[in-house]
Amino acid sequence: MLGNMMFKPLLISSLIEHAAQYHYDTKIISKNVNGSFVETTWLDISNNAKKYANALKALNIQPSDRVATMAWNNHRHVEAWYAITGSGMVCHTINPRLFPEQLTFIINDADDKVLMFDQTFAPLIASLRTAIPHVKHFVCMSEYDATIAELMPDVKFYDDLIAAQTATFIWSKFDENTAAALCYTSGTTGNPKGVLYSHRSTVLHSFSICLPDSINLSSNEIVLPVVPMFHVNAWSIPYAAAMVGFSLVLPGPDLDGKSLVELIDQYNITVALGVPTIWQGLLAYARTSKTELKSLTRTIVGGATCPPTIISEFKERYNCETVHAWGMTETSPLGTINNLKAKHSGLSEEEKLNVRLSQGRPPFGVSIRIVDQENGIHSLRDNEQSVGHLQIQGHWIVERYFNQDKHTLTTDGWFDTGDIASIDRDGYMSLSDRAKDLIKSGGEWISSVELENIALEHPDVAMAAAIAAIHPKWDERPILIVKKKAEGQITEDGLLDFYQNKIAKWQIPDRIVFVDNIPISGTGKMVKKDLREKYRHILSL
Ligand code: ADP
Repeated sequence: MLGNMMFKPLLISSLIEHAAQYHYDTKIISKNVNGSFVETTWLDISNNAKKYANALKALNIQPSDRVATMAWNNHRHVEAWYAITGSGMVCHTINPRLFPEQLTFIINDADDKVLMFDQTFAPLIASLRTAIPHVKHFVCMSEYDATIAELMPDVKFYDDLIAAQTATFIWSKFDENTAAALCYTSGTTGNPKGVLYSHRSTVLHSFSICLPDSINLSSNEIVLPVVPMFHVNAWSIPYAAAMVGFSLVLPGPDLDGKSLVELIDQYNITVALGVPTIWQGLLAYARTSKTELKSLTRTIVGGATCPPTIISEFKERYNCETVHAWGMTETSPLGTINNLKAKHSGLSEEEKLNVRLSQGRPPFGVSIRIVDQENGIHSLRDNEQSVGHLQIQGHWIVERYFNQDKHTLTTDGWFDTGDIASIDRDGYMSLSDRAKDLIKSGGEWISSVELENIALEHPDVAMAAAIAAIHPKWDERPILIVKKKAEGQITEDGLLDFYQNKIAKWQIPDRIVFVDNIPISGTGKMVKKDLREKYRHILSL
């Protein structure tokens, strides 16, 4: 027997309809590419989204067609997301930091019909044009700009397109499993792979991130998504914002410490989200300025391991909690998030910090497990010590990559994340490494993350990457690549001494190499692959 309740498909358009109706005057602040600010509201965003939906229709773009965006976090980008998805088209967010060959690959693989871009990217788009012949319309996300019109004579301007339309548009109705957005993994190995989110997965994921034990979002917050909208949909923040009606501050292209501190103080931001390198930049600037970051209650850190120093500095200097989360493009991205349970309330600050360092627990809607593939043992939380391959299942987890017929799951239906982790009895997951970053010395695993975290505790160290170097006796041994702080004086021996008594002797790196810069990927993570290529033979030289 079926239940007798109404069925309403979970569609993204219902989010913007809700925001326009019940949070019409909530502010959306947006920084333009030229540095000026625009203040709009959810009602303005909804009206412009409808105008742009009419414009896409006038351009004869059909449901399921891919409309791509290469843009910063700004109000036009949010409007475009709702216009595209609400019309049943697919919003393909492009990471502009990918190499040109990767960009042409993904634009062609997605078969994008429209390519929208911020002024910043006009020269890049112009240089790609001959390699992306299927794109029919190029839309610059600005008012008319003579320089860009000269560079690309057939370009259309977003503001002109919406000025020609009315704000009357009925959002399309379709199956909630319809594709809504497409995002490519950064493709550290091989070509990038597309992950195609559905309306249903996006709405369920948005519910989940708002929950108190998750990011805890309500209409009272003023939220700064530093994480770009081209990086796993800014972790769904623009969708969650419409769902609960909070105020957004969209930082545009300026993601340096100074710009972010100024935004936080000027707009009384309460919650900010980003990868650890962003917070390292922000904290470095904050130390030299008079800011007290008074309004900031929480930072959400994910995408790479959060060094303990970030958590303690935010807490001690600014009374701001750091919430550590784990996820990936394939998981929408929320897989686990770290909030304490009631049972932790009696712990000392140090013990609490220890719990907070893990990547956290899965919210309702996803399940995780650890699989030791060497022994074929599936240890589901029953043994806290067992470290193995992290696998995941859930409502917003990928089943197959875009344009691939075969699913990408294990025979029993789990997605293997490529991460190595353990899970404790309470469900807290601790990630030791990406499988490909693990260091295997004499048959024993050494976690690069642990080695990096110790180095970062040293006051002279700005960044540290632990990688495996080939060793004649042990197969691999850890070495550490370090970028010192500007005033840092530390020597190799000094830093090696710093490791004494912090970990087992055999885990201490064999060498420390000081460099001026550690390469950072398009998603703000250290590119260990490049470092491995450069330094893997250093112990055999
Ligand atoms: P890419 O890094 O290839 O661009 P993703 O953004 O999807 O792709 O990154 C997902 C990966 O990032 C995860 O598999 C994991 O290795 C790493 N990651 C994400 N969050 C964390 C975290 N909190 N701690 C450690 N690693 C993380």
